[in-house]
Amino acid sequence: MRTTVGIIGAGPAGLLLARLLQNAGIGSVVLESRDRAYVERRQRAGILEQGTVDVLRAAGVGARMDREGIPHDGIELRFDRRRHRVDLPALTGGRSVMVYAQTEVCKDLIEDRLTGGGPLLFEAEALAVEGAETDSPRVRYRHEGREAVLECDYVVGCDGFWGVARTAIPDALSRTYERTYPFGWLGILADVAPSHDELVYARSDRGFALLSMRSPTVTRAYLQVPEGTDADDWADEEIWDELDRRLEVDDPGWRLARGPITAKSVTPMRSYVHEPMRHGRLFLAGDAAHIVPPTGAKGLNLAVGDVVTFARALAAHLDKGDPALLGTYSETCLRRVWQAERFSYAMTTMLHRAPDATAFDDRIQLARLDRVTTSRAAETDLAEAYTGFPF
Ligand SMILES: Cc1cc2nc3c(=O)[nH]c(=O)nc-3n(C[C@H](O)[C@H](O)[C@H](O)COP(=O)(O)OP(=O)(O)OC[C@H]3O[C@@H](n4cnc5c(N)ncnc54)[C@H](O)[C@@H]3O)c2cc1C
Repeated sequence: MRTTVGIIGAGPAGLLLARLLQNAGIGSVVLESRDRAYVERRQRAGILEQGTVDVLRAAGVGARMDREGIPHDGIELRFDRRRHRVDLPALTGGRSVMVYAQTEVCKDLIEDRLTGGGPLLFEAEALAVEGAETDSPRVRYRHEGREAVLECDYVVGCDGFWGVARTAIPDALSRTYERTYPFGWLGILADVAPSHDELVYARSDRGFALLSMRSPTVTRAYLQVPEGTDADDWADEEIWDELDRRLEVDDPGWRLARGPITAKSVTPMRSYVHEPMRHGRLFLAGDAAHIVPPTGAKGLNLAVGDVVTFARALAAHLDKGDPALLGTYSETCLRRVWQAERFSYAMTTMLHRAPDATAFDDRIQLARLDRVTTSRAAETDLAEAYTGFPF
């Protein structure tokens, strides 16, 4: 098989890239190792930045998001039994975010690709990228029990952190930057209306908690738990009790609504960047190149930024014969990536309690929260990063 752009991975990065290339009249083939049901069920991110919302709309795949997504104009910070609302549009000149689950973004893009787009092969596992330094890179893959080769002009590795594309960049040219955190997130989905109409980020002496939502009838919530925790060690009532304690405020009107928990899992927390994001005609996008802890809600949005950058760069090259944007792909993406890394790290360390935290560390966290909630400049900095830097 031959195509212009071989895309490895049908997560948000690979699927959206296929659509952006199609809109630009550029052919592509998407290879995905898992089956369709698995990709559509995988619970992950849920907050779309303003720029991501705009890109999905402009690409022609935002109709269901606009019908079913929940626009959010604020987040709440809780600490010291206090509540503080961050008014996102007021601080950013009108920017906000949308609650629309990654599962739904992927379902929309898969449906779109299978009904009108080009090839998308499920259960097609890429085994290796070869010839990245040449003008005709190849992806070796296994599909329906047979090995095959996808001949390409360009390959984009959208295959996530555990994918194969990154390994095609020689070690001697690779630099990695990493931090793992000594805690994770126990996430739940529950069949109960959200207790608050915006996201609540809570810092408490017992650790971090986040109250979020998937729809008007489904609550998504998270608890900071020690690294290595097994989700099954937590009984449902224990989870609700702990959420109640960490979200407690001096407001008699506040009450946490409980309901049946339908899913429970633990996510590790890691920051990771691989540089460069390009080697010859191989480009990395999304989690294949970088990971952020979920506190800043940046992972999915960074993946979108990368593929928008690649699609624009390739269109400029093929339409106008201008290779400059392809040449600076890695630098352009990494600038944005490091801003997201900085913000995600800042949010994580401001809100989570490290196992070895001292009384001094606690005071510093409270001082940081006090600063964010009393200085318009500091609050604007948070709101700008949360709603996302322009692509
Ligand atoms: C458990 C978990 C929870 C998360 N929660 C949040 C959150 O709350 N908020 C947030 O902002 N972000 C969250 N993230 C991060 C966010 O989901 C990712 O940043 C986002 O999925 C990145 O999209 P992607 O397309 O780059 O990679 P992925 O979504 O990982 O997609 C990669 C795709 O490549 C496929 N693949 C892998 N190897 C191969 C191969 N060899 N051949 C073919 N296909 C292959 C995979 O099956 C997958 O479909 C979470 C991540 C995880 C793992």
